Amino acid sequence: MEPAFGTYESFLQQKGNQFQSHLQNKVLLCRKCGKSNGYTLKACNQCHTSLAGVELGHTENAFTGFIYGIKYKISLRYSDEEVLIFDDMLQVSSCHINAIPTKVYIPDWRYLLLNPTEGLKLLEKLEEKGWYCIKTQFLMNEEWKSKYLRDTKELTEEDYKDMYYAGCNYPPSQFQLHLQFLLPPYRPFAWHVAPTMSVNGRGRFCPLSYLKKVLSLSLPFPVLPETPVESIYQFFDLQGVSYDAYYDQHLQKERRMHRRLVNWKVEDFEGIVVVDTPNSTQNQRFYKL
Ligand SMILES: [Zn+2]
Repeated sequence: MEPAFGTYESFLQQKGNQFQSHLQNKVLLCRKCGKSNGYTLKACNQCHTSLAGVELGHTENAFTGFIYGIKYKISLRYSDEEVLIFDDMLQVSSCHINAIPTKVYIPDWRYLLLNPTEGLKLLEKLEEKGWYCIKTQFLMNEEWKSKYLRDTKELTEEDYKDMYYAGCNYPPSQFQLHLQFLLPPYRPFAWHVAPTMSVNGRGRFCPLSYLKKVLSLSLPFPVLPETPVESIYQFFDLQGVSYDAYYDQHLQKERRMHRRLVNWKVEDFEGIVVVDTPNSTQNQRFYKL
């Protein structure tokens, strides 16, 4: 879908500066490799250089840009008055989408705790629409299914409902609440680096099951911009909802579903990239298959 505004500046000039704070991500730019990192990280997640002393910087918020129609083209999956769904910009599986609310600005999932009842309702709405997209745009597409998934004849809608996962990251990559949906199998690279460099790593990724459980307790939590997510995990741990237990369950399921569904064939690839230094893009060698 084509954007209505060519740049963030042209949008702000026409609509007013009150939108400015919605259009920025808070980041720490790595001094060595230039990667923008989540503002709570201690070291760059690309080159591991310390981020101590790096001043808070800003990047353009692509997701609120999508909502207002600024700059970026969207690989759109679904839209209505309240929800926008699109392909993840750094897809690690062929079915990897994000659902965002369009009527409210919620920088990240922690703020849902200010009003757990409404927060839960919002997540459930995003969940319903995300599942609808997975079902109608992927699973009902026989050509897609036979290419990416293995042995699907016996699988029912209920089975698939249990095979995808959803959740939110904190800190997020883009500062607008987004519920991420992913149906394995992972692309080989993503599978290979996990779990050491999992896209949805422990501490940062919250499975939807955890978020729903925490919100269903209806215990408002006084979230401020600087509230560490660890203090939220600790608080709900004391209420009997263990983040680690939910995360472990998520990880096991993710592994199991990848192995169950993976359908890559040698002929799908041109070659193999061998990386000498783990977690680095340096010293890569390419071998043609
Ligand atoms: Zn770096």
